[in-house]
Amino acid sequence: MAARMPARVFIGVGSNLANPVMQVRQALHTLVWLPFTRLQAQSSLYRTPPMGPAWQPDFVNAVAELRTQLTPRVLLAALQRIEARQGRSRKRLRWGPRALDLDILLWGARRLKLPGLTVPHPGIAKRAFVLCPLAELAPELHVPGYGSIEQMLAGVDSGTLVRIR
Ligand code: ATP
Ligand code: MG
Ligand code: MG
Repeated sequence: MAARMPARVFIGVGSNLANPVMQVRQALHTLVWLPFTRLQAQSSLYRTPPMGPAWQPDFVNAVAELRTQLTPRVLLAALQRIEARQGRSRKRLRWGPRALDLDILLWGARRLKLPGLTVPHPGIAKRAFVLCPLAELAPELHVPGYGSIEQMLAGVDSGTLVRIR
């Protein structure tokens, strides 16, 4: 395991329950402790209206950049444990309110299609709350199968996104 080359991985962090700013901060702190992994950078936090049912609170979103020697499956399992520890219930509405969502956005230049894991994340091209913090960390980024982050940003409406800290 330790002999693998570290991969450059971006994680989308989101919350709209139980003090979202605190949830996102807490998650970022927890990422520091992942084995065989370094937290390389973290974006600003952004507030954004919910994408799913409109009756729920606004989301707070951020992106973290990791260098990791974990495999994609092992990292996903670790992220799901962090979600569970921060009170995320799996029995819930799609895109409904949640204390924490951790999605693997990008895994270097790789495209992965495993059961339960698609990378680049399938929603990436439509989500300003992912693309803005991603562009903040890596303005030069090329997203495999999609194009440059700049082109992708031009295709979304980031008007409702507010940078909060
Ligand atoms: P969305 O994926 O549209 O942002 P969501 O994050 O609310 O929705 P979840 O309930 O967190 O969805 O996850 C549903 C399933 O998505 C998980 O069981 C996981 O296996 C799968 N999944 C597929 N690709 C990814 C990915 N790149 N990162 C995280 N989960 C993924
Ligand atoms: Mg998600
Ligand atoms: Mg998710």
